[in-house]
Amino acid sequence: MTSQRTRERLLGRLMDQGIRNMQVLDVIRSTPRHIFLDEALSHRAYEDVALPIGHNQTISQPYIVARMTEAIVSSGSTERVLEVGSGCGYQTAVIARLAGKVYSVERIKPLLDRARANLRTLGIRNVDLRHSDGTLGWPEKGPFDAIMTTAAPQVIPEELLQQLADGGRLIIPVGGDEHQELKLVTRDGNEFHEQTLDLVRFVPLLRGQVQH
Ligand code: SAH
Repeated sequence: MTSQRTRERLLGRLMDQGIRNMQVLDVIRSTPRHIFLDEALSHRAYEDVALPIGHNQTISQPYIVARMTEAIVSSGSTERVLEVGSGCGYQTAVIARLAGKVYSVERIKPLLDRARANLRTLGIRNVDLRHSDGTLGWPEKGPFDAIMTTAAPQVIPEELLQQLADGGRLIIPVGGDEHQELKLVTRDGNEFHEQTLDLVRFVPLLRGQVQH
């Protein structure tokens, strides 16, 4: 099957699963996912599955990227966005096309370097990347209109909540290996309203030391 047809089939699948936002669907359609994968796996790039990217990490499943992006884009401003867990940069590339400026942090240096190279290949310039522990957010660049966390903590880090602007939203998987829920938290002054969107499975959000 040609790459174009597998890509269209993926779009159909996302729509069947309830993704409705046309901007989000258009960005997924026009963002090549195969460039984020090793050559040996690139033939599977348009399957709706998470795939390994080395260092025990994965590239997120397209449905989850679409779901998280849609939840953020359709709930308010995306002028300043923080992503925690750049991986090799796929979600970063997708949200960058729908945001003013994206800040993204990753704790594994070789993955961050790959994310940087991939974003350059795609000509995406509105992203700042940093090698650091994302459980601390990126306080110097906040507050953020939206924060997307693509790895799961057991409990939502207080630092991330505090870096939300008023009206800002945090989307984050929460829980352990057995059970994780994708949460959307909205800040209203000093109140935080929480909604559960989906059951999900992400790699753990590790607190502390970064990896070189
Ligand atoms: N956003 C990626 C998903 C990568 S998997 C995509 O679109 O495919 C999640 C990433 O979170 C991994 O690369 C992992 O190294 C990173 N991560 C885990 N804990 C972290 C932390 N405390 N700070 C920053 N990144 C972290």
